[in-house]
Amino acid sequence: RNMADPRAEPTFLAVKPDGVQRGLVGEIISRFRKLGYQLVAGKFVWPSKDLLHDHYAELSSKPFFPGLIEYMSSGPVFAMVWEGTDVVSVGRKTIGATNPRKSPIGTIRGDLAIDVGRNICYGSESVGTAEREIALWFTTDEVASYDLARRIGFI
Ligand code: ADP
Repeated sequence: RNMADPRAEPTFLAVKPDGVQRGLVGEIISRFRKLGYQLVAGKFVWPSKDLLHDHYAELSSKPFFPGLIEYMSSGPVFAMVWEGTDVVSVGRKTIGATNPRKSPIGTIRGDLAIDVGRNICYGSESVGTAEREIALWFTTDEVASYDLARRIGFI
């Protein structure tokens, strides 16, 4: 943990298959960099359905769950870990509302999408879920942050 900034925290962000196919990885990285956040891990992953069932476990009873799993496993996603002050809540605000058409202009979804089933990116809901998701998607050697590796119990 960054002692100079006790509110520094990690989040897990992913550009979903539609965002990757539309060439939006750079745009999304750029928005978080301009806010002043630090990218500490990133890779393309074509997620298995098992991984997605784990990742979205809380939504398994929702009517849209089967479609969500199909969509998320339809191609590579760009998985990332970002660090910084309040990055979880600022990240969610930057991504915008679940439904892009209800998401304000200026947010990633409000600016770049129109379909709730194709809403470009994912961001963790809390520091607790971020830690769980980072451990699910990444290994120690993929995370370029000593503080974070220690926090997650990687080292
Ligand atoms: P968020 O991604 O904004 O945190 P949720 O956790 O509620 O939203 O839902 C996870 C994902 O499931 C959404 O990002 C979206 O891709 C999909 N989803 C949610 N609601 C619907 C819906 N009504 N129809 C289709 N897909 C949906």
